[in-house]
Amino acid sequence: MKHIAVAVDGPAGAGKSSVSKAVAKDLGYTYIDTGAMYRCVALFAIDNGIDIQTDRAALINRLDEIKIALKNENNAQRVYLNDKDVSERIRRADVSVGASDVAVIPEVRARLVEMQREMAKTDNVIMDGRDICAYVLPDAQVKIFLTASVDARAKRRYDEMRGGGIECDFEKIKAEIEYRDKNDSSRAVSPLKKADDAVLLDTTELDFGQVTEKMKELIRNVL
Ligand code: C5P
Repeated sequence: MKHIAVAVDGPAGAGKSSVSKAVAKDLGYTYIDTGAMYRCVALFAIDNGIDIQTDRAALINRLDEIKIALKNENNAQRVYLNDKDVSERIRRADVSVGASDVAVIPEVRARLVEMQREMAKTDNVIMDGRDICAYVLPDAQVKIFLTASVDARAKRRYDEMRGGGIECDFEKIKAEIEYRDKNDSSRAVSPLKKADDAVLLDTTELDFGQVTEKMKELIRNVL
């Protein structure tokens, strides 16, 4: 049997990871969070004192030292950078911005895309990111562009952080999302945009259950 690949793209905070994770769990598919991989590269740079803005060469020279593993432990996805569990640290705001900055570097993208394609070879996968439909998995049977208004996305991130007991500021979160939208959409390599053959799913007015149901329906249609 041929493996099923579900490709999900969209801007920051559209709900890609939580929806993809839930659907993958229900269907027994492997969830691959490619954003976490860009975050690992950013964290590596920060931890090693590499200034992403001014010293790209230093990061490119050390790409071989970066080992990333996505593991499923007790039904939760954990992210390992060089054998250390960094699942929480990669969610920091400075790492989010850093991820968007390292993501404009072609050498970083080439390296991570190679790993992502390798991961999709052996399992049924749901992979989310920015360039999955058009570039990483162009043969995916299901392609979805998941989006929502900037305000809805900022509000969700705000509620999520507050829910987790983290003090935060709505305007700051919105500004960070706008920065990443601009960076991700305007870069030369694989800019964020809906692939022609992807289904547009605008979740501004939908709740979590409705979005997961829609995604499952799109997958069921190709089985
Ligand atoms: O999805 P997440 O917000 O965790 O991604 C962090 C950053 O990594 C994004 O803002 C984007 O710049 C970058 N990214 C990317 N291509 C992907 C996944 C993430 O450029 N496939």
